[in-house]
Amino acid sequence: MHGAAKTIFGALNDLLFPPLCLGCQQRLASSRPPLLCLECFNKLIFIHSPLCLLCGTPFPGGADHLCGECLSGRHFFDLARSLCLYCPPLSDLILALKFNGRLTGITTFRALFDQSPLFDIFTTPDIILPVPLHKKRLRQRGFNQAQLISSGCFLQWRKKIVLDVLTRHRLTTPQAALSGSKRRKNVCDVFSLSRPDQVAGARVLLIDDVYTTGSTVNACSRLLRKAGAERIEVFTLARSLGSVKTNR
Ligand SMILES: [Zn+2]
Ligand SMILES: [Zn+2]
Repeated sequence: MHGAAKTIFGALNDLLFPPLCLGCQQRLASSRPPLLCLECFNKLIFIHSPLCLLCGTPFPGGADHLCGECLSGRHFFDLARSLCLYCPPLSDLILALKFNGRLTGITTFRALFDQSPLFDIFTTPDIILPVPLHKKRLRQRGFNQAQLISSGCFLQWRKKIVLDVLTRHRLTTPQAALSGSKRRKNVCDVFSLSRPDQVAGARVLLIDDVYTTGSTVNACSRLLRKAGAERIEVFTLARSLGSVKTNR
């Protein structure tokens, strides 16, 4: 469509179907993402320095440094970063996507990601692996939210997204119901690499919706490291600092 026609069509469309804020359902003046009113947008907590240089956990003050967990060498990935803290309205949007299939959030996630400096932090990957769902859960839900976030936020690299390399072969208890050590045990031996040759010597970008203790992405990273991945970076849309409902 021609530029001017597109603008007129967009304005007409907004008039006939007024866009609503995904956070509070208030009417918005434009359908241009992010679909959030100013009040909801201002509730978002973008993660920035000071933070852990490796796992990206934000600190209340001081300078960037390594957190205790990273100093103890518990993580198998090289870098992890998240866009925002897991709290409303972002947490509501993620839950609406996962449990109500509200895909409208994806363009908003992308717009928020584009506004942040995060893209430049990641090394150009050879392969992007969304954290997989078990096939039973994928059938129930009809989509994998990590895959949608991957193609939504990393549109430029969408051809690098591969779905048949990392698989989840065991259906687990939702992580939200468990404490830290139980979360680690819960995801132990849950994932497998069906094509380990694809990750040997590769720079891998692993993507998930929420990072809580990091157990899930760490379990995947352990496998990737064992298969000889050269570099493993992790992106999650949100970072939870407490025990909250993030059921896969
Ligand atoms: Zn709002
Ligand atoms: Zn850390």
